Order: sequence, then C-alpha cells, then structure tokens
Amino acid sequence: MLFKAPRGTHDVLPSEVERWHYIEEVIRKICQEYGYGEIRTPLFEQTELFARGVGESTDIVGKEMYSFKDRGQRSMTLRPECTASVVRAFLEHKLFNDAQPSKFYYQGPMFRYDRPQAGRYRQFHQFGVEAFGSGSPALDVEVLALCDDFFTRLGLHDLRLEINSVGCPLCRSAYSKILMEYCRDRLSEFCTDCRVRYEHNPLRILDCKSEKCAGLVEAAPFLAKSLCDECSEHFDRVLELLNCLDLKFHLNYKLVRGLDYYTKTAFEFMLPEFGSQGSLGGGGRYDNLVETCGGAPTPGVGMAIGIERVILAIEKTDFDFAALRPKKIYVALAGKDMIKEGLLLLQDLRENGVSSDMDFLGRSLKGQMRFADRSGFSFVLILGEQELKEGVVTVREMKSGQQEEILRREIVPQIKARIL
Ligand code: AMP
Repeated sequence: MLFKAPRGTHDVLPSEVERWHYIEEVIRKICQEYGYGEIRTPLFEQTELFARGVGESTDIVGKEMYSFKDRGQRSMTLRPECTASVVRAFLEHKLFNDAQPSKFYYQGPMFRYDRPQAGRYRQFHQFGVEAFGSGSPALDVEVLALCDDFFTRLGLHDLRLEINSVGCPLCRSAYSKILMEYCRDRLSEFCTDCRVRYEHNPLRILDCKSEKCAGLVEAAPFLAKSLCDECSEHFDRVLELLNCLDLKFHLNYKLVRGLDYYTKTAFEFMLPEFGSQGSLGGGGRYDNLVETCGGAPTPGVGMAIGIERVILAIEKTDFDFAALRPKKIYVALAGKDMIKEGLLLLQDLRENGVSSDMDFLGRSLKGQMRFADRSGFSFVLILGEQELKEGVVTVREMKSGQQEEILRREIVPQIKARIL
C-alpha cells in the first residue's frame, strides 16, 4: 500500500457515518433547545492563543500541539481544543455587546500529538458548549444538565459525573503552598516533569499521568478544603442546584483537569469500564480566560465531549444504529433496453424522497438480486419486458421474499407508504 492515513487519525466510511449523523443531529437539537448557537472557528489559530489560553505548563501546550510555521514565518497551531478559539471569536467580533450571556456550541476535529490507543487519537472530534457573561452557579448547572441530557438521549445511562472546585487564583495560591510543603520532602521521587511543575505550576502535579506521582500525592490535602468564601459558596450552590434537578454526582476532590484556565467548578463524565480513557467529556468554569485572552473580565463556563469515545460507549450498549438507516429501494433491470425505464423510475422515486439505486454494471437479474440482498435494500422493483407491456412493476420485499405486481403509475405512493 502506497499511503495510509496518518497514525492516530481515521477515516469515517459510509458504513459508519450514520452514527456520526445521528449524534450530530442530537447535538443540533439539544443545543437549539438549550439556547446555544453554533459557532464555527478555524481549524488553526496563532500558537500564542493556546499557549496563553490553555496554559504553557499543561501537557496539551507543552507536549501535544501540532504547531508549524506558515510561509509568512508565523507560528500556527492546529486547535487542540476549541474554548480558546471561541473566546477569541467572542472578542474579535465584540459579541460581548450582544445581550448576555452569550451561549455557543461547536463540533469538529481537534488535534493533539499523543500516543494513539483505543479512545485516544491525534485527530478526534469534540462537541462543546461555552457560555460567557454570567458567573451564576445556575449556568454551571445548565451546562451539566445539557451534558446529562445529551448522554441520556444517546442511551448512555451509566456515566458517573465527578465534580470538584479548583477555586480561584486566590485559593489556588494558598493551596499551592500547602501542596508544595506536602511534596517537598519527597520531591526527588517525582518524575522530571513534576519537579518542573513544582517550581512553575504545582497544581499540575495532581494531573500527572505517571502512576508513581499519582501515588505520591494520593494522601495530599485537597484543594477544595482551601477554598475562599466566594468559591466555597459557589460550589455549595452548584451542588444544591444539581440536587434540585436530581442530577447525581460524585465529589472527586482530586479532579483538576488538564487545562489551566479552570476556576471554581470542574467536572468530568466518566465511564469507569474504559479505564484510563474513561473520560467521555468534561469542563467547568473559567472566569479569567476572557481577560487572559485580552478582553474585559467576563465569567465563562463550558464543556467538551469526545465524539469517538461517545461512539465507543454507545457500541457497548444495545443501541441499534442499523435501525436508523433509511429504507432503500433497488431497481432491477430484467431484459434488454430497460435502462431508460430504470432511470425514469429512479428519477420518479428520488423526486419523491425515496432513496433508490439500480444496476450500472450490466449484471444478470440473479446477480442484481444478490447484490440488493447483500447491500441492505428493503425492496427490489423488477422491470422486465412483460411488466413494461402490462404497465406494472414486480415488487419484491427482500426480508420475506414476497412478490406482488403494482401498477407502474401507482408505484411511488405505494412504495412510500411501505417505507416512510
Ligand atoms: P479535554 O478537552 O481534554 O477536556 O477533553 C474533553 C474530552 O475530549 C475527553 O473527555 C475525551 O472524550 C475527548 N478527548 C480528549 N483528548 C482526546 C484524544 N486524544 N482522543 C480522543 N478523544 C479525546
């Protein structure tokens, strides 16, 4: 084989694309219902946007970005996530002048240079929402309710919502000191990355993927216990409102998430059976991000869900994607010179919204029937010389094998009644 798709990327073939369409439809519908408007941003941005927005000391920026110099020698990066891009667009188009909050959703490919494995790719797709302009805990809960509703509509009932508060810079700086003190005596046992994190951004130690480091901070004091009054009240209110909506959650005081911009609420939807790739989606509040990206102080909250992982999770349930396929009609040509009749019948069917196809390879009738059977057609309409003379079409239902003759002029409404 001369070429293969780059490692960590994959093609979505026509036989698989219906599950994508289905999920995309759910996304559109749910976002419309919750009042989030779609935003489409470029697949690449100035590298600086992500370095600033996501954070220099995160794995995403430090190790996983696809960055390149364009022909004008500007450093560009394929977006590793979309929140920073949405913030950039919000500021660039002065959308803060619209009635607030501004609520956006997006879906599309993201790029991270990571070691590919099941559920972890270099090009993957996310569906996400971002809401700017309100610091109300009710908006955090709306985003969580939207996620829960999305998963429920896709038949994913066994997800575990884990939630924490990562506080604000005020509580974080107090907590960083506590964490540094806790780690100091055993610093030499941490990985090289964590020793650097210790100096520049100690909180990231809690997010280290090495088991050794995870073990070392296992018994570290929790950030949530060092929250300032405002962050503590915010967190209590979020939990109270979740209870009010009967949305189940688990407190996970270790949850910090892999992006630096989070403040206060941080959450993740987990499918424990997926092990280390068990996070289907996550998000939280980021009250300083808009300012970090050059705007006026503007609170924000959002989330992102990985579509590939959602598909893997749905495949483990008994959800029947095949049942979503529209029923298709095959026009079989029996006898010479049936091509014109065939094309006219196809035109008639398609103009009336019926998915249909016919033989273009000059196969025998038997060959055409075999093909129709293998390719999942529900009905075959047989056009032969005899049928033509009598003004009828022979209709064969593939599942039962039953055949009947239907008048040619009646065929479209009759077929529509059977399949739509
Ligand atoms: P994050 O932007 O890191 O908060 O990730 C949000 C969600 O995107 C995760 O919960 C995953 O479902 C998905 N995701 C993140 N990275 C990858 C990846 N490399 N491959 C596939 N899905 C991913």
